[in-house]
Amino acid sequence: MSDPDLAIVSVESTIVDVPLIRPHKFATTTSEVQPILFVAVTTAGGVTGYGEGVVPGGPWWGGESVETMKQIVDRYIGPYIIGRGVDEISGVMLDIERIVANARFAKAAVDVAMHDAWGRSLGIPVASLLGGAFRTGVDVRWALGAAPLEEIVEEVTHKMEQRLNFSFKLKMGALDPVVDTERVVKIVEAFDGKVGFSIDVNARWDRFTALRHVPQLVDGGVELIEQPTPADQLDVLAEINRRVSAPVMADESVQTPHDAYEVAKLAAADVIALKTTKCGGLQRSKEVVAVAKAAGLRCHGATSIEGPIGTAASIHFACSEPGINYGTELFGPQLFAVELLKKPLEYSEGRCTCPRVRASASSWTWMS
Ligand SMILES: [Mg+2]
Repeated sequence: MSDPDLAIVSVESTIVDVPLIRPHKFATTTSEVQPILFVAVTTAGGVTGYGEGVVPGGPWWGGESVETMKQIVDRYIGPYIIGRGVDEISGVMLDIERIVANARFAKAAVDVAMHDAWGRSLGIPVASLLGGAFRTGVDVRWALGAAPLEEIVEEVTHKMEQRLNFSFKLKMGALDPVVDTERVVKIVEAFDGKVGFSIDVNARWDRFTALRHVPQLVDGGVELIEQPTPADQLDVLAEINRRVSAPVMADESVQTPHDAYEVAKLAAADVIALKTTKCGGLQRSKEVVAVAKAAGLRCHGATSIEGPIGTAASIHFACSEPGINYGTELFGPQLFAVELLKKPLEYSEGRCTCPRVRASASSWTWMS
């Protein structure tokens, strides 16, 4: 039986549109703001923990949006978990499966809020709940929207000069594939091999297109190929992985531990993009990483462009989980035009430091 002080007495959620420093162009859409669903879980002891429901710029990625997440949290998950302890995360997440299928981004917001409330109740960081931090921070790759060559060169140069990021990801899939491929190869050439670039097609190319252009990208110096083809076509991803020397990373293809198992079985990828959001929270993310580890796959700490709460949760996860062993792209708050924390996350020298203790409730400026 859980400590009565740890019992959940309320679950509240709020949608906030956070403006970005520049429009972020994905394969099919462009974001000017990042909508975030903030979820607050409060205990009988008066402690509130926060989580974020976040998808990258809308429902195009996986079908969920902040609006669907709000309904799922407010109407189904919230009332269902009232009275349960925030230290019962395993059991609560299991039981939620009885009333809500899939909807992993919404579940992640609740899972993180419970971890946060539990950690705050004990006065320890979330990384300690997950087994303890074994590193003090993570390397952070910066993602550039699908923008023209000149803009990209300027942004990369600026980031390098500021020593904020030393490796970069280029979004593809918005343009004609021939033009898009030429654009990316020119960007890589412009830095003469001194900057590491990966690409992400967000599952937008078919087999025919990918088999023609992925080898050209690899020959052009791209060091990592992320999800060129549709999520459910693992045999196609495996074929591409066999064809090219650069590692292939599965993102849309892996949301559950079983997805990771299927990718491993078919050798469809060398790296898994591990998002604590798309996996349904920190609890489930551990299971995905365990499968990857057992299969000799690496995991990259990926982002859905979470705000500082979701990003801090993913950094705590990455700092306590040796299986996150292919860097991260946990840059979300750096893309925001407003700072949501009184004590911001610390980005410098190409990395982000793991915050010792998550910011207190009073330090969230959006609440005031
Ligand atoms: Mg991706």
